[in-house]
Amino acid sequence: NLSERLERSFKLLKGEGTITEINVAETLKDVRRALLDADVNYKVAKKFTDTVKEKALGQDVLTAVKPSQLMVKIVHDELTQLMGGETADFDVQGKPAVILMSGLQGSGKTTFSGKLAKLLKTKKHKSPLLVACDVYRPAAIDQLKVLGEQINVPVYAEPDSKDPVKIAQNAIQEAKAKGNDIVIIDTAGRLAIDEQMMNEIESIKKAINPNEVLFVVDSMTGQDAVNTAKEFNERLNFDGVVLTKLDGDTRGGAALSIRTVVNKPIKFVGTGEKLEAIDQFHPSRMADRILGMGDIVSLVERAQEQYDEDEAKKLQKKIQKNQFDFNDFLSQIHQIKKMGNLKELAAMIPGVGKAIKDIDIDDNAFKSIEAIIFSMTPAERTDPALINGTRRKRIADGSGTTIQEVNRLLKQFDQTRKMMKMVTGGPSKFARFMPKM
Ligand code: GDP
Ligand code: MG
Repeated sequence: NLSERLERSFKLLKGEGTITEINVAETLKDVRRALLDADVNYKVAKKFTDTVKEKALGQDVLTAVKPSQLMVKIVHDELTQLMGGETADFDVQGKPAVILMSGLQGSGKTTFSGKLAKLLKTKKHKSPLLVACDVYRPAAIDQLKVLGEQINVPVYAEPDSKDPVKIAQNAIQEAKAKGNDIVIIDTAGRLAIDEQMMNEIESIKKAINPNEVLFVVDSMTGQDAVNTAKEFNERLNFDGVVLTKLDGDTRGGAALSIRTVVNKPIKFVGTGEKLEAIDQFHPSRMADRILGMGDIVSLVERAQEQYDEDEAKKLQKKIQKNQFDFNDFLSQIHQIKKMGNLKELAAMIPGVGKAIKDIDIDDNAFKSIEAIIFSMTPAERTDPALINGTRRKRIADGSGTTIQEVNRLLKQFDQTRKMMKMVTGGPSKFARFMPKM
């Protein structure tokens, strides 16, 4: 699937010190292929990888972040943007608000109508009315009635009528009379685009002027989904897309392409046959799903937010000259605390990660370390070799800790410095900053 493919191509970047023209091009070729395989439209995939390339090459790479991780973040942000950025609004204002379903037969309109009614009833305390406007198949009315009974929502139907426009209008009158504040109109679909179907749904739309016209599409139909969306949008100018059957390992490609091709937001997803299997569409979460790398993304985000680049540069110099001292140690602790209790993140910070490897990272763990360092004189902090036996006793007393704790910290600090000296042999191994390209 797409996530695995992308993951593999990002792994190629692992171990690379910089994001260069060459390794970006290589990776993006894989990304593009993966997107195409996931049914992302060719033009969309091309445009997407071009944008990512531009962004990647212009980036100052943070030290705490591997190039491959940064690439993941760039791709993630681009995917999110491509799918609309923010979660789309859904209009339920009005007495009643009217929602009209459209889409091919089997796309999941009837099921989604039931899901939406349930969602609005339980989460928004609305009082929905479901309307059966499929006049061609008697079974369609029954299907909606069964759903209505399951969720205790009334269903409006006129079994003898052949006029869906009239049924829709009558249903809205009925809702007004009975005090239903949401009317969800389920319509008939066809197996393929068909002039009569298009005319019918168009006339319903004109007659009732709905708050939302939703286009329902089966995400498993891949590239066809995009073409269908385009044709429906040309006729209906719909307000949003419902992506159904996004359960299991269904490819997410349709979401990307539809959004880009018709430029309409995806508003909901269906993730199963059960009536609870409905979600609002969140572009960022969908990008997570496509990438399958949500954790790395948030990690990188936090590191980028919090890391002060100038500090990092200064620190790099000090480490190279073996001048890393307790003041640096302290400021690194503050960096970690700003980032929250993420042990993984801490491990990425030079000088501290090793030292606190075996400590639970919470504020208490830092408290005694900080207290000990605060109890050192400025001279002791810059030159820890000064700290002899009597000084250790004084520091322990001053910080409310024990000599053992002071000893442990000094030992850890010493090991850290040794470790740093070892790895600073070559700049490539410990480069806090990737060279600019
Ligand atoms: P309609 O012809 O557009 O009204 O489509 P239906 O609502 O009758 O759905 C067609 C089939 O797809 C039914 O068997 C549904 O149970 C199934 N279905 C609908 N939505 C989903 C979904 O999100 N996930 C899965 N797995 N099946 C779905
Ligand atoms: Mg139906």
